[in-house]
Amino acid sequence: MINLLPEIFLQAKPILEHIENHHHKAYFVGGCVRDYLLKRPIGDIDIATSASPVFVQEIFPKVIPVGIEHGTVIVRHNNDSFEVTTFRIDGDYSDKRHPDSVQFIDSIDKDLERRDFTINALAMDLNGNIIDLFEGINDIKERIIRTVGNGYERFTEDPLRIIRAIRFSSQLGFTIDSITFQEMKDVSSEIETLAIERVANEFTKLFAGKDVNRALTYVKNLQIERYLPVFCDYPHMLSALSASIRPLQSFAEVIALFHLVNPDIEVIQWIKEWKCSNRTKQEALRLVKAYSYFKKHGLDRWLVYQLTPAFYEGFIRISENLLHTTVSLKEMKAIEQQLSIRSKEELIINGYDLMGMFPEKKRGRWLQEHLNCIEFKVVCGELSNNKKEIKEWIKWNPPGID
Ligand code: ATP
Ligand code: MG
Repeated sequence: MINLLPEIFLQAKPILEHIENHHHKAYFVGGCVRDYLLKRPIGDIDIATSASPVFVQEIFPKVIPVGIEHGTVIVRHNNDSFEVTTFRIDGDYSDKRHPDSVQFIDSIDKDLERRDFTINALAMDLNGNIIDLFEGINDIKERIIRTVGNGYERFTEDPLRIIRAIRFSSQLGFTIDSITFQEMKDVSSEIETLAIERVANEFTKLFAGKDVNRALTYVKNLQIERYLPVFCDYPHMLSALSASIRPLQSFAEVIALFHLVNPDIEVIQWIKEWKCSNRTKQEALRLVKAYSYFKKHGLDRWLVYQLTPAFYEGFIRISENLLHTTVSLKEMKAIEQQLSIRSKEELIINGYDLMGMFPEKKRGRWLQEHLNCIEFKVVCGELSNNKKEIKEWIKWNPPGID
């Protein structure tokens, strides 16, 4: 049986064997088992074990203690990382972030019982035998999301599970069981109490799912927007989106799209209220700037240059959501080939060269402005990236008076 397992499980097999050689139990658990049964690409391999985190640290040479108080360590093996978590039951989630306390236990049964949905409460041993205590395999077959145990209690315990149910429906294209859905509705106002970073993390995956439209229909039916920053002040924002939005791959893309649909809400407001990183802010701003430029000027070298290859696809995803026709990756790459420089650093001339040409001028805004202008002309092909040619141009176009 094990030989039928995908490569990634085979890579993790020595870890399970090593733990079992030390007389402890170990299983593949959660999303990797679900995705294996669904024949979906497997993300991370999570391992659950009866061994304590300290014991796991002792028996493996390379261990990173990422969340030792919750029982989780990362075991490094042949350049791969595997999360190994001790079987546990959770205490209360009074801060709506982490359980207040966890208790390590010996058997996998209770560990599976604390998991959110039946499809995520599966474990598999190293021979490929599956432990399925809550009819998760049947729910996978029927493509249904259902809580493990009483949904009202499970959602009250951790309201993030409400958002997680919707995000799994988006990723997997599953239907939420009707009783579970009613229970989500009953508890939905508790979403307000969640740490927004946790919600943002789930929302990012929700918007990236292939069935994002199904998920947004759930969001609308539950009127979850009422409990979410920014959305709560603009009740019609989600309904204003077309019924066929295309998946987005990052929260920066989500923010850029919503800002472009509702320019009244600045990117910075999204960032603040959703407590996003500076990186998300920079990415969202870059996408917004590129889209606005595209609307005015269309696809040209300057747009492609400003975006940089890392953002081509994000830009296409945003514009596909806003316009009937847009550009293709192929077109962008073809233009990239024509660029004589890929970044400002490649410009043959710099501030010192410019100052050298105008020794009488004081340092000031003119320097940056003139360099920007030269950069633009080089990128657009009006000037070659050649010192002599650029200096000649500068002589004829000296900087203005500051
Ligand atoms: P993905 O492929 O997107 O990572 P996943 O199922 O692995 O999906 P994770 O968020 O990585 O999802 O969580 C790993 C597992 O931990 C889940 O499959 C589930 O069993 C359990 N789990 C995670 N978060 C919760 C939660 N809030 N409540 C209960 N169980 C949870
Ligand atoms: Mg995971």
